[in-house]
Amino acid sequence: MDFEKLAELLFPDIKNTPDHYENLYPARELPDKAEVTRIGPSPTGFIHLGNLYSAMAGERLAHRSGGVFYLRIEDTDNKRKVEGAVESVISSLDYFNIKFDEGAEVDRQAGKTSYGPFYQRQRAEIYQTFVKDLVKKGLAYPCFCSEDDINAIREVQTEQKLDIGYYGKWAKCRDLTFEEIESRIKNGDPYSMRLRSAGQPGNTIKFKDEIMGEITLPENIMDVVILKSDGIPTYHFAHAVDDHLMRTTTVIRGCEWLPSVPTHVELFNVLGFRRPKYAHTAQLMKIEDGKKRKLSKRKDPELSLGYYRELGYHPEAVRVYLLTILNSNFEEWYQKNQGVPIEEFKFSLNKMGVSGILFDLLKLDDISGTLISNMEREEVYDYFYKWMNEYKPESVPVYFADPEKMGKIMDLCMGIGQKRRRKDFINCIQMYDFLSYFFDEIFAPVYEFEKYEDMTAIIEEFKNTYDYNDDASTWFSKLKLIADKFGYASDMKAYKQDPEGYKGNVSHVAEIIRVALTGKKNTPDLWTIMQILGNDSCMTRLDKALSYLGK
Ligand code: GLU
Repeated sequence: MDFEKLAELLFPDIKNTPDHYENLYPARELPDKAEVTRIGPSPTGFIHLGNLYSAMAGERLAHRSGGVFYLRIEDTDNKRKVEGAVESVISSLDYFNIKFDEGAEVDRQAGKTSYGPFYQRQRAEIYQTFVKDLVKKGLAYPCFCSEDDINAIREVQTEQKLDIGYYGKWAKCRDLTFEEIESRIKNGDPYSMRLRSAGQPGNTIKFKDEIMGEITLPENIMDVVILKSDGIPTYHFAHAVDDHLMRTTTVIRGCEWLPSVPTHVELFNVLGFRRPKYAHTAQLMKIEDGKKRKLSKRKDPELSLGYYRELGYHPEAVRVYLLTILNSNFEEWYQKNQGVPIEEFKFSLNKMGVSGILFDLLKLDDISGTLISNMEREEVYDYFYKWMNEYKPESVPVYFADPEKMGKIMDLCMGIGQKRRRKDFINCIQMYDFLSYFFDEIFAPVYEFEKYEDMTAIIEEFKNTYDYNDDASTWFSKLKLIADKFGYASDMKAYKQDPEGYKGNVSHVAEIIRVALTGKKNTPDLWTIMQILGNDSCMTRLDKALSYLGK
């Protein structure tokens, strides 16, 4: 067969050669050991935690080594395309502060050589150029099999319990003559392009995965499709061409791609490309009923990135949490390096988990609580304000009617000016609930009263003796007097020695007042809460509690 002639027949419009693109996208000028990594989402509208996990690994690897992290939109499958998906990927990356240097929409390193376009559909001519070259070398051929033909082959293979696919004697179009091909093309028959695999059954390939370690897999024997009938490549071929021309040094991607590595290895070989390193990230799992299982799109809202935004998790908390599950030595580093930007942590691929990464929302809450408690009040205020405007705009006039009041509430709940910071806040939705009792307009207590003796009398006595101008210690002395008056111990030591001798102690008295004023058994400092609420509000609330208690 005259392969040159075949190549011209199949790709008459392709005038460039691979050399053209090799020169157009030269090796990057980067420091030694600099890594080039990427995220390659398909625009299906769903970028999830697993993507973010891999993206963060890629971003850290690139930026810690003085390299480049870029965004490539893998839109070869037009059927699955969702409007607005690219914007949503970009805004998610932005939100979680994962900065890419080059990529779709934004070429952030202006002035430097661009390795784009970064949308695969815009690169059709590039892929076709490389396929044409493979045809010239006898390494690729057109296949006219229809979907029905392929299904028929699969049926027989299934029946005979053979490997499923287009290979060996099943590869019907492998040895078509030039004349056959020419006449079918003239006839307008659609065709795809396939790799002529040189793989042999029984052979294996060995490679080192940067995360998973040494891996041995069967060699590829399939004549995989490299170009679909519309001239757009499959993932496999686009991966080889793009990661080569964009000069990726390490491909970080989900472990679902691991079984495809032999195909990719063969493609890199036939194309004459140097292979990038591979790093396959383990599956994210959760524990349910004591068992580990994969996070699922259908069952687990926490898999979607929108979840964290809607609930108002501070993106930094999600980043810290992701680093915690990304690198086993991060947590210890983070604890020892309070206040040091997490970017300084020496991220490495070989500290990543190799199977079933456990994702635990309670741990995220814990990290988030600590992180917020260490922030400046202004930062938390602004963050909460922005979130409220986006997700609870109708409540903004209530919560933020008096910015000074909100400032005081935040100081109180964060423990600012107190001996120790408080961890009352976890995320915005929880803050929204937590803070609701501070606002008369929406104060709707579900009273958490325990059963103590003389509750109404205690509340009445408190109401009668309360003076807004009392300082905290006078206020507390009065509480003790009330305790004494109603047979509650004002002295904790005395109470501990003889608990039966009293109806309770002063902390129970305080609890009664606390629940009466806020509905809740646990709140930050009650004297301060009353200072923030103001005298009138407190009196009204005490009355409300009294009538609740059935006076
Ligand atoms: N488009 C592929 C995916 O979404 C990307 C895999 C890769 O990073 O190579 O799974």
